Formats: sequence, C-alpha cells, structure tokens
Amino acid sequence: MLLFSDVAAVFEEIEKRSGRLEMTDVLAALLKRADAAEIGKLVYILQGIVAPPYEGIDLGVGERFAVAAIASASGYSAGEVEKNYKKSGDLGDTAQELLGKRKQTALMTQEMGVAYVYDAMLRIAKAGGTGSQDVKIKHLTELLNNASPLEARYIIRFVLGRLRLGVGDPTILDSLSVAKAGDRSMREPLERAYNVCSDMGYVARALYTEPETIKDFHVQPFKPLMPALAEREDSPKSIIKRLDRCGVEMKYDGFRLQCHKSGGHVELYSRKLERMTDMFPDIVAEAKKLKAKGIIFEGEALAYDRKNGRHFPFQQTMHRRRKHGIEEASKEFPLNLFVFDILYLDGTDMTGESYRARRAAVQRLFRGKVLQPSQMKLVSTAKELKGIFNDALAKGLEGIIAKDLDAPYTAGKRKFAWIKLKKSYGKAVDTIDGVVVGYYLGKGQRAEFEFGGLLVAVFNPDSGKLETVAKVASGFSEEEMVSLRETLERMKTPKPPPNLDYNIEVDYWVEPEYVVEVAFDDITESPNHTCAMREGKGLALRFPRLLRMREDKTVKEITTSDEVRRMFELQRAKS
Ligand code: AMP
Repeated sequence: MLLFSDVAAVFEEIEKRSGRLEMTDVLAALLKRADAAEIGKLVYILQGIVAPPYEGIDLGVGERFAVAAIASASGYSAGEVEKNYKKSGDLGDTAQELLGKRKQTALMTQEMGVAYVYDAMLRIAKAGGTGSQDVKIKHLTELLNNASPLEARYIIRFVLGRLRLGVGDPTILDSLSVAKAGDRSMREPLERAYNVCSDMGYVARALYTEPETIKDFHVQPFKPLMPALAEREDSPKSIIKRLDRCGVEMKYDGFRLQCHKSGGHVELYSRKLERMTDMFPDIVAEAKKLKAKGIIFEGEALAYDRKNGRHFPFQQTMHRRRKHGIEEASKEFPLNLFVFDILYLDGTDMTGESYRARRAAVQRLFRGKVLQPSQMKLVSTAKELKGIFNDALAKGLEGIIAKDLDAPYTAGKRKFAWIKLKKSYGKAVDTIDGVVVGYYLGKGQRAEFEFGGLLVAVFNPDSGKLETVAKVASGFSEEEMVSLRETLERMKTPKPPPNLDYNIEVDYWVEPEYVVEVAFDDITESPNHTCAMREGKGLALRFPRLLRMREDKTVKEITTSDEVRRMFELQRAKS
C-alpha cells in the first residue's frame, strides 16, 4: 500500500524543485510504487482533481468549511484559524502549523493509504443536497484527525483546488513513462491516449493493467477528445505555401461542441470538456435522429436570427440563451451546428483517417439544417483562397480555416493541419489568447471599480512555464471591469503561479485559469516580459487591448511563446 504520508513527502520535495527533469525523476519514483488500484487515484490527485472535467464532480469545499474542519481537528477556534490564515496567506500552511500544535491528540490514528485519502475526497465531492456542507466538514475533519501536519497541508490545499505543485500534465506523462518503461519512450503514445480520452487516471490504469493497449488506444463515445487546435498564418500566400491544395472552411464564431452518440444516448461537451448536454436540447434531439449507431462529431453552434436571416456571433448566442432561458431561446433563436469534423463512426476510430476522408463522411451524414456541414471549398491558389476569405468577412464571419487534406485529426495539438486566417482588428494584425496571471488596482477614474488592468501570459511548452507578454489596461467595458474584478477577486493567491516566469510585479496574483483574447498593434522586445526570452529580452505586445473574455477556452489552448516569436519574425520580415 502506498501511504499518503509518502505522497506528501514527495510533494514537499517537488515544491522545492523547479526543473522539469528533476521533477520527473522524483515523480516517476513515486508513481512506480503505486499498484494498479492506486495509480489512477494518485494521478487524479496530482492533477488536483477527483474526476475528469466532463464528469462534473467538483470538490466544492469553500474556505469557510476548510476553516471549520481545521478548527475541529486542531482544537483551535475558527477565529484563531482565520487569524493564522491572515498571516500565512495559505490555509494549507495554517493547517500544518495548527495541527502541529494540536491541542487535543486524536484517540486513534490510522495510517492512510493514497487510495483511502482519494476515496474520502471523492465522498466529500459527491456529498450533495441539504446538510451536505456538514457532511463535507465531517469527512474532512476525519481525514485531518488521521493526518500528520504535512499531510494536512496537502489535503487542505487539494480540497480548496489549490494544490499548485507546478506539475503539469506533460510532466505527469513523462513520469508515467519513466515509471513503467524506464525512459521516455512511452511518452508519445501515452500523450496520444490522454488526448483522445481526456482522462489521465484512466490512461494510467490502462498502462498498469494492459500496457499493450496504450500504443493502440482508441477513441470511444462519452470520453471527449481534447479539441484539435489551429495554427495561424498571416496571408493566403503563406497558407498555400505550407499546404498547397487544401480545404478552406468558413470560420464560424460560435460555441465549439463535441457531440457523442451511442444508440439513443447523446452527450455534448464544450471545448473545455464540460458536459453541456442540458444546454442544447435542440442539438441533442437532432443528433438522436442520426442513422449512425455510434458517432462522435464536432462543430460550431450558432444561434440563428430568423428575423434577419443571419447568425449571431458567439457572445450574443450565449447571451440570448442566458437571458431567454434554454427552452425559450431554442424556439426563438434556434441553433445551427456547423459540423466540421467526425472522429468516430460505428466502431471505427476516424482520428487516424485523412481530413479528406473525414470530410467526405461529414458531407454524407449531415444534410439537415440544425446539423449541417460547415462550408468548405477546395483551393489551389492564393488568389482563390483570398476570394473565399473576403466572402467570409463580407458575411460577417471571423475568417477562414484552411485544412491539410492529408492530415489526421490531431487531438489536443496545434499542428499545421489547420491554419486560421482571421480578420484584423483596427491596426491589429492578429490576436493572442493569453491567461491572466495577475491584476492591477485602478487609479483615477477606474478607482471606483478597483480595477486597473491585467497581466497576461502565454505558454512555453518546452519548459512548461507561463511567460508574461502584456499588461492589458484598455479595451474593457464598465460591465467587463466589474465582472472581471469579481472573478479575479475569487481567484486571488498570495504567491505567483509556481510555473510563471516574470519580471514584473502586480497588485494581486491569481490562479492562472482565466483566458482572454488580446488585440495589439505589433510586437516589440522588452526586458519587462519573459515571453520567448532571448539574451535578457522578452517579447511584448504593443498597445494591447482586451478584445473579449474567453470563458470557453482552457489554459491548455492559449497561444504559445513560439507563436509569438513567429509573429514577431513575420512582422520584422515585412517591415
Ligand atoms: P481560434 O479560437 O481563433 O484559435 O480558432 C480556432 C477555433 O475556431 C476552433 O477551436 C473552433 O472553435 C473554431 N472554428 C470555427 N469554424 C471552424 C471550422 N470550420 N473548422 C474548425 N474550427 C472552426
């Protein structure tokens, strides 16, 4: 049995290290000690979750309840716990300190295995209904009664969703490979398996029980795939140079949905892999009518404005649904799903097939209005591509996505299989998606909202670090400022994100979870930012402004430092 105390000791060690290689070694040694029944649970704990996102099982323990549990396990009053928390800034640290000075010793303590702790967390998460908060506190107190001070630190951080070990999915995948194969040789198949089912606990269990299945891992209904991502180019010419003859699709500014069906059962998932089935009954009903027994397909949902014969863009689509209620909105503003890919059909995993073959299936299967194929044309020249791009803009769309005819579906990856070309925003050539890592308080006019701007970072997949690229202080409507302040207030943390590289201070750090789309004029070198740093100079956006909040995107999808570097070089080549 792998003891949770051993896990906690390794967590403490990991916190002291920052290099990904070092972390991998320490973590691999820990994973090696888990058995088949423990490994999945241990992996979820490392990810800071109790279940994959689409199962919708959140821990739902607020600070107040954690304080109550710490108080009853330590014998201190809630007021004393709060006081200590004010000082430490971290309830995990507070739990560790106060449990170390426990006023009462538990009568019987029992050694806890990692599976025992996980099961208790799951029970806490699943407790619902009236009195559920009391049940949660009771379970949590029991855990703390049996915990050493160090274990308590990580249990509390975990239930609050703030484990923050700085261990990302790539490090866990590397470590699983090293634990089982002795080297990184399994990393690629493990990553693919994870990308097509989004459930790392499930993949880890498969690795420990039937390792041969990992190399030939198949997609399956009701395990959503991580969405394929689009690269960017800045002109029709550069797209043709890369892809040659390609399929060019309209880029709809809608809500990306993955639809899974098996027999009469249908589920919908967002790009963040949350279950959205109840939000889109009209699409579910239509999907049930499909002849295919088992199918997974993907598209962009847009509300249709009957009066004007046009589609609403993303923000309005969502706004209408919130404002009018799902039932009402379905009648008044029916949804159309523009289907652009198919990933599974009647027992066959389609992700390895070429886009050409998948697209043929899309055109064959979707002929209705609610579920209709996205518009696609084959082109061979930059001139033709430009024509379609202009048509897209004339129709009020965002741009186009060009697709490599021979490419498979690259779940969870940004590959040149899909290349987007978007309209420009004012002087801006393009936009980036970044994650908010901190924020500033307002001055002058804005003081009233206590909001002065955002520190925004992009991701460097090579190092696993977030790197800052802009301080965004304009582009906010008053409504956005109020809602941003509320959201960020809830995400405040005493320390910067553990995997953030930064040279610039903020008024408050936040959990790196909130994605924003930022427009800018151009890119410049700056010692203040750490994006794609070379010789002491990073890249920064000039005149950055908030274009919109992207609550539909996860931090996994944000722009990479490499992309910013490429945009910078394209810009240099032009001038
Ligand atoms: P972006 O969010 O700007 O990186 O653009 C990529 C997104 O465009 C995808 O994640 C989809 O949500 C969306 N999209 C719209 N139309 C299409 C299409 N025809 N094919 C693929 N993705 C599309």
